[in-house]
Amino acid sequence: MTDAASNTGEQLMIELRDMNKWYGEFHVLKNINLKVKKGERIVICGPSGSGKSTMIRCINRLEEHQRGDILVNGVPLTHDIKNIETIRKDVGMVFQHFNLFPHLTVLENCVLAPIWVKKIPRKEAEATAMKYLERVKIPEQAKKYPGQLSGGQQQRVAIARSLCMNPDVMLFDEPTSALDPEMIKEVLDVMIELAREGMTMLCVTHEMGFAKTVADRVIFMADGQIVEENEPHEFFNNPQHERTKLFLSQII
Ligand code: ADP
Ligand code: MG
Repeated sequence: MTDAASNTGEQLMIELRDMNKWYGEFHVLKNINLKVKKGERIVICGPSGSGKSTMIRCINRLEEHQRGDILVNGVPLTHDIKNIETIRKDVGMVFQHFNLFPHLTVLENCVLAPIWVKKIPRKEAEATAMKYLERVKIPEQAKKYPGQLSGGQQQRVAIARSLCMNPDVMLFDEPTSALDPEMIKEVLDVMIELAREGMTMLCVTHEMGFAKTVADRVIFMADGQIVEENEPHEFFNNPQHERTKLFLSQII
C-alpha cells in the first residue's frame, strides 16, 4: 500500500484517491484527489458549505467516506478498527471550538490520551505535556481549567494537547475563526512555528497571511470539489477559475 510513496521517491503522508462522501442523498465530496508529502503545509480554503471540514474529518475518520481511498502514512482507511486506531495515533486535530474537556485541568487535558491510549507512564506524560505547554507559551496555566482561559489560550492548549500524542500530521479546522481578533495572532504564531519545525499540516483557514507565509500549496474547494490548487504566490496573484476569483475578491 506504500507503492505510491515509493514510486515518487517521497513519502506520502496523506493520499486521497477519487474520494467521495454522501450525507444521506447529499453528495458532499466529489472525486477528491489529494497527495500530501511528509513536511508539506497545505492550506484549504473555500466558501462555507463547500466540504472543507467534511474532507479533513474523513482523514481521521470522524466522518466516513463511501467511495475511493484514503491512505494515511500508507495505511488504508477502511472499516478495519486496527487501521483506524493506527491512523488516529498518527493524526492530530485542532477544531474551531477547541473541544477541550471543561472538567479537566489544562494538564489533565494534555495527559489523558497519552496515558490511556498510548499507555505512557503519568510522570513521563506530564513532562511531555509541560514541554509542549512551554512551546505554546502557557506553562503557567497548567493547573487551570479551560473556562478560566481566554479563547487564544484555550486554542494553544488544544494544539499542545495534540502535540502530546506525537502526531505525524496535524489537521486544523478553522482554528482561529472563533477567536477575537487580538487572539488570532498568538495562535497563528504557534502554527507558523510548527510549520517551520517541519510538521506536516493541513489547515482549513481563511487567514491568507498565514497561507502566504507558510503554505507550500493552497487548495480551493467549492461545491464538494477541489476547484483549483497552486503555490501561494500564483494562487493569490493569478487565480484561474471564476469561483476562485470571486472568493478571493470577497475575503481580501
Ligand atoms: P465547510 O467546512 O466547507 O463549511 P462542511 O464540510 O461543514 O463545509 O459542510 C459541507 C456540506 O455538508 C454543507 O452543505 C453542510 O450543510 C453539509 N453537512 C455537514 N455536516 C453534515 C451532516 N452531519 N449531515 C448532513 N449534512 C452535513
Ligand atoms: Mg467547516
